[in-house]
Amino acid sequence: MTPTLVRTIAELRRLVAAARVRGASIGLVPTMGALHRGHAALMRRAREETGLVVVSIFVNPTQFGPHEDLARYPRMLEQDCELCGRERVDVVFAPPVEEMYPAGFRTFVEVEGLQNVLCGASRPGHFRGVCTVVLKLFNQVQPERAYFGQKDAQQARILQQMVRDLDVPVEMCICPTVREPDGLALSSRNQYLDAGQRQHALSLYQTLQHAQHQIAGGERSAAVIRQRMEERLVATPGAVVDYAAVVDADSLQPLASLRGRVLLALAVKFGATRLIDNALVDVPE
Ligand code: AMP
Repeated sequence: MTPTLVRTIAELRRLVAAARVRGASIGLVPTMGALHRGHAALMRRAREETGLVVVSIFVNPTQFGPHEDLARYPRMLEQDCELCGRERVDVVFAPPVEEMYPAGFRTFVEVEGLQNVLCGASRPGHFRGVCTVVLKLFNQVQPERAYFGQKDAQQARILQQMVRDLDVPVEMCICPTVREPDGLALSSRNQYLDAGQRQHALSLYQTLQHAQHQIAGGERSAAVIRQRMEERLVATPGAVVDYAAVVDADSLQPLASLRGRVLLALAVKFGATRLIDNALVDVPE
């Protein structure tokens, strides 16, 4: 089945309204395309849980910094539509930039406190762009449910806060990170890696595994865990560490001792390619 490819908000609204008349609930999966099995897992869950599945494919310029990979970000709409078809997606919404940001656009959404730490510290304005585009998509589609990946843990946390604070009537569904057989988290940016970098990129997953073993073994000092994670990453050939963090999963603030829901989060650059990964750990009080 081929999904209906839609380029305009007006056409999108027509299809969504028609589905509502039929009594269908709406599921939205926002993406930037270059789709992989991680995205497919979100679509599959949306397919199980909602009557009309909308996948947006939009490389959102407002979430890229001036020196980031906006221009070279992979764009492969035809292949993406095929993957969406295999997952029985109903609508692919792929608007041109002018449709989302017409001349004179001035309004942005910010989530204070959560947006300037971790990835936000090295990507100023990134989450402002993410929140703005996702709220626009929510208003355009008005889905009952929206599907996001735990792979982007900070993004998921910030969007949940935005939905709560602005009373957006959508249920946020956060899905587990899908990985390669060896553990590397799937990412559209993995295709930038050369063979050597691909091998060394496994270090992110291994570092998280190691930290989780230490915690399971009783280690409760966040400083010790953080330092070991950083040491492992620094020792990885070609890796330039952006951060290795041990934070409270709710506040995203650094912890002294581990307790409650803990987020272990990593960001590492291999050449020009920035990779992230994370693990959520429940530490008994
Ligand atoms: P992106 O196209 O990278 O902006 O991602 C679109 C959505 O897919 C986001 O909610 C991501 O968190 C999610 N996603 C990306 N990679 C994965 C993965 N490996 N596993 C699960 N979800 C993912």
